[in-house]
Amino acid sequence: MPRADRILPGLPPGRALLDRRGDLRADPGLLPRLLRDPGTRVLRLAGDRAPVEHAGPGRARLVLGAADDADAARLALYLGEAGGTAYVGVVVADAPAPDEDDPGWRTLRQVGADLDPLGAEVLTTTLALANWHATHTHCPRCGAPTEPSLGGWIRRCAVDGSEHYPRTDMAVIVAVVDADDRLLLARGRGFRPGGMSVLAGFVEPGEPLAAAVVREVEEESGVRVTDVTYLGDQPWPFPASLMIGFTARAETTELRLQEDEIEDARWFSRDELVGAVEAGSVHLPGRLSIARKLVEHWFGGPVDAPEVPLR
Ligand SMILES: [Zn+2]
Repeated sequence: MPRADRILPGLPPGRALLDRRGDLRADPGLLPRLLRDPGTRVLRLAGDRAPVEHAGPGRARLVLGAADDADAARLALYLGEAGGTAYVGVVVADAPAPDEDDPGWRTLRQVGADLDPLGAEVLTTTLALANWHATHTHCPRCGAPTEPSLGGWIRRCAVDGSEHYPRTDMAVIVAVVDADDRLLLARGRGFRPGGMSVLAGFVEPGEPLAAAVVREVEEESGVRVTDVTYLGDQPWPFPASLMIGFTARAETTELRLQEDEIEDARWFSRDELVGAVEAGSVHLPGRLSIARKLVEHWFGGPVDAPEVPLR
């Protein structure tokens, strides 16, 4: 498999920066000990927001500190270590959510592209795990409450002892390009007016990734594709996806939209896309997203555009 970080610049590096140290998770004393250690770097997550500080133009830094007394009673997640320092995520559910406009508390969508790679990995992992814990409080077998265990990497049922693991939902996302080198962009239901992106959809059980690409593109747009080529992937914890990015060649160009999901779809030449973005009639996905990276991979470089949320 090609080096994803070389094909799509700006994606998380192919090698994790956090050593997750799965070998330490079974020690029930691990988190209590780390929460007492002033050297531990704790990221507090409140709702989907994390504390950040400005670190220069277009740059932000997570505010990481030692645990405080209240953290001992909160859901704590052992993220691993980097450079000899332990990192722990703590989910703050006992305090009012930070104000949406508070510049000191930002979401991953808002700040992810501005963080350093380790900071982005710490926040992404904390958010992904926290999202899973929030919706898996009860055992799917017997309905009894479950408790976090193994440093926050599983939940265990107190009644039948079954163990439940965090899930990641695989989704394919694909830049479809036709014989004239035009890119297919679509607006999903629920996007803001003018918001357009490449096609994406969830992988179904029993389905290879390339088959999911072919199926999703045909279902959503009516276009048949071939030459499905992997370009890179990106954890996307909104709430629990892994976006697996491809390019594919269109064998047909006639559009037949899946109307309950796709409101609009069009083929764009590079000039048409630049014109539409400059005129403000098309808004591209955010800089953080693999969707944007796929558009820019086709385009051949950055497409300068103001940052506007798609949804
Ligand atoms: Zn159970």
